[in-house]
Amino acid sequence: MFVARHRNPPGRHRTMAPPSTKAAWLAASMAGAAVAAVGSGVSTTAGTATAASASETALTGVSPAPAEAPDGGQGVISAAIARDRVTTIIAASRAKREELRPRWVRPGTGVLSSCFCSRWGTFHYGVDLAAPYGSPIYAAGDGVVIEAGTAQGFGEWIAVQHANGDVSVYGHEYKLLVHTGERVQAGQLIALVGSEGESTGPHLHFEVRIGGIDGQRIDPIPWLSARGVAI
Ligand SMILES: [Zn+2]
Repeated sequence: MFVARHRNPPGRHRTMAPPSTKAAWLAASMAGAAVAAVGSGVSTTAGTATAASASETALTGVSPAPAEAPDGGQGVISAAIARDRVTTIIAASRAKREELRPRWVRPGTGVLSSCFCSRWGTFHYGVDLAAPYGSPIYAAGDGVVIEAGTAQGFGEWIAVQHANGDVSVYGHEYKLLVHTGERVQAGQLIALVGSEGESTGPHLHFEVRIGGIDGQRIDPIPWLSARGVAI
């Protein structure tokens, strides 16, 4: 195994063999070709490898490493083994990404411009995040879009039901990027900020409804805070 590190030392590549060893290389190549031709089931590639190995023996006087090196060697692994390893690596990387991705995120990029509180003589059942037209709106958590379209007062809206039954609502969008029935992940871009419906400027109106679309509307700030998200 030790000699494997010296299979192709600089300046001694087999195609650069000096004239004195060229005859030996040629003989070895022919021997390899003969093996390939005679041995049933021995492929041309194997024959070539045999020829190459023989030529290295002729050049260095030592036997080369076996063509198949299981691990850490400098040999060759088959295409099937390579495919298996690539598949394993991709699966591991996917699992890692899934493990590390956030489960809850801030649904918008803007600044808090309205609280879950009374204003202008009525109660405001969500929080507003003021942001320029076209700013991103993200799904706060994993879930399924149970409504996406127009709604009274909201202009356009999206409602996402989460695993525990709670529903997050996003209103006044300029553009919706998901449709009803679609699965979404925390942080997925689902819409762009607008000022549709009852609105005085571009912002995201964000609500949380406990246990379903018709559930009690609560202050989203502690709900998000309990999930590690600050508004
Ligand atoms: Zn609002």
